[in-house]
Amino acid sequence: MARYADAVCRLCRREGMKLYLKGERCFKEKCSFETRKGKIPGQHGAGKTKKPTGYALQLREKQKVKRIYGVLEKQFRLYFQKADQKKGVTGHNLLAFLEQRLDNVIYRLGFAPSRAAARQMVMHGHVLVNGRRVDIPSYQTRPGQTVELGTRAKSNEGVKSAVETAAGRGIPQWLVLDAAAFKGQVMATPKREDITLDINEQLIVELYSK
Ligand code: SF4
Repeated sequence: MARYADAVCRLCRREGMKLYLKGERCFKEKCSFETRKGKIPGQHGAGKTKKPTGYALQLREKQKVKRIYGVLEKQFRLYFQKADQKKGVTGHNLLAFLEQRLDNVIYRLGFAPSRAAARQMVMHGHVLVNGRRVDIPSYQTRPGQTVELGTRAKSNEGVKSAVETAAGRGIPQWLVLDAAAFKGQVMATPKREDITLDINEQLIVELYSK
């Protein structure tokens, strides 16, 4: 599966906000968005200061959301098509689809320090949905399903420390966590107000509606 393999901190500086792609490091002083604040990456980064056009704003918003959830262009467009076909507000549907990805649920429950680490855990077979192993990071979870870690992952020190750290940051309302059992449940489809990321999804809808 194709993945972005370059230095991910560049992506935060390019999008002008912290995308939280590196787990614990993102919450420490070492975060390169903080240490190199305002510096757009690339040879001509310093020259990219002119006022962006409407198209540029739409494009950046789309890139930002793709990068937050670790989704490549083709798959992202498929999410948009599904969101557009579904009843309701397209932008909200799009974010709900992304939030309900299994790797994101693992991250939101605090079982992994980043979505990339969560994706790895899923692909390595450490995650059970309703008691059955699922190794597809893009798997769409549904309300009522339980998500838990396999026995080996539960005894992993890195996972234990990720759960402890994440507990301090809080769990979204549409999920319920039993931290002692490394088990969570999807209680509802996430609503827009449950997604606190700084995203203007309407710009993405406008971009793809051209
Ligand atoms: Fe972004 Fe995290 Fe890197 Fe900071 S440490 S620049 S938030 S990926």
